[in-house]
Amino acid sequence: MKNEKTTKIVLLLLFAAFLTAGGIPLWKHRHYQMPIVAGPGVTRIIHLSDFVPSLKGSVADTDVFVLEGKEPGGKALVMSNTHANEPAGLLTSILMIENAVVEKGTLYVIPMFNASAGRNTKPGDGYPLYFDVPTSWGAKRFRMGNRDASPLEQWPDPDLYIHYPDKQLLSFLDVRNTNRTWPGRPDGPLMERVTYAAMELLRRDKIDVAIDMHGAETMFPVTNCIVAPEKSARIATIASMTVKAIEGFDNHVEPSPGNFHGLSHREIGDFSETLPFLLEAPIPFLDQPTGPKTVKLMLDGKDPFLLNLSKQKRLFVPYDENGWPLDKRVGQHVSVAIEILKQFSKKFSERSIRVSGVPRYAEIVKNGIGSYFHDPAKADPKSVHYE
Ligand SMILES: [Zn+2]
Repeated sequence: MKNEKTTKIVLLLLFAAFLTAGGIPLWKHRHYQMPIVAGPGVTRIIHLSDFVPSLKGSVADTDVFVLEGKEPGGKALVMSNTHANEPAGLLTSILMIENAVVEKGTLYVIPMFNASAGRNTKPGDGYPLYFDVPTSWGAKRFRMGNRDASPLEQWPDPDLYIHYPDKQLLSFLDVRNTNRTWPGRPDGPLMERVTYAAMELLRRDKIDVAIDMHGAETMFPVTNCIVAPEKSARIATIASMTVKAIEGFDNHVEPSPGNFHGLSHREIGDFSETLPFLLEAPIPFLDQPTGPKTVKLMLDGKDPFLLNLSKQKRLFVPYDENGWPLDKRVGQHVSVAIEILKQFSKKFSERSIRVSGVPRYAEIVKNGIGSYFHDPAKADPKSVHYE
């Protein structure tokens, strides 16, 4: 009897020890603060909770950096971390916040759109918790997030997610996926409130262009492209042709399906005057048949299994020994986003948006994205924001 009790206590202590050892790294990851140095273009910071007050105080509330030009003009929103495991968009947003100067019009940047997903991980897939990008002042550390918001913020999941307002049946997980919960509602599940807040921002501030930056598998047909509904298709096509002709990289246009609901490129256009664009850059890390999900694979996109599949023509993008590095993915996002703004400004000259101070594809590939990040230790503390 005594022995049994001792065994139970020992097992309980062992369980607690494993739980603590496993939990501490996850707790640290969730609470890690990533600095962003607001550059000369940032004039103010607003929050999604300004549009849906019930988000205030929750992890889902997030910063919206506003960069206002001296000259009035059109307005554009650039957003990333809709899926927080597709980090090229996040790095593009930070590059813009730290370097862009808006000469005409207004640029809004939401670096951590699904802020909860940015503090989530996917241990079952062996995701690394962080990745470091080299800079001249040391490594800049990023949290590696997950596709969906954390159940710590939104739980329980339904058996099926019934999309609002179209009643389309989606996977239960999509209730935490901020690229399925558009256009959202002010009193819905947390992620519907996040997308509703962004819809309100777009409508109230009369934003002309919204660019949602993602990454997609090389084995997924909708990759390395601009997804655009009918109303954005012309600008997307000219932007795609221009980057191909002038900057030498492919980024074709995919039509946004009219009957697939909840996605930003569909609902933003249908529920506001805004022209939506969704950018996909290939991210080999997310493909299923790869080696271990290492930081190296996340950064350089080199994988022997994908190389083999590429030789069998199973991939939707050209793929060789050079992989698909992060610098290339970020470079594409930056150039395509800036080109969309240029083409929009040409077509609607009275609403034009002029942005300077941002490098383009070739420079980012040559210099590395890290060379455009600013050292928070040397910056004015008032300009350093933690995400
Ligand atoms: Zn995505």
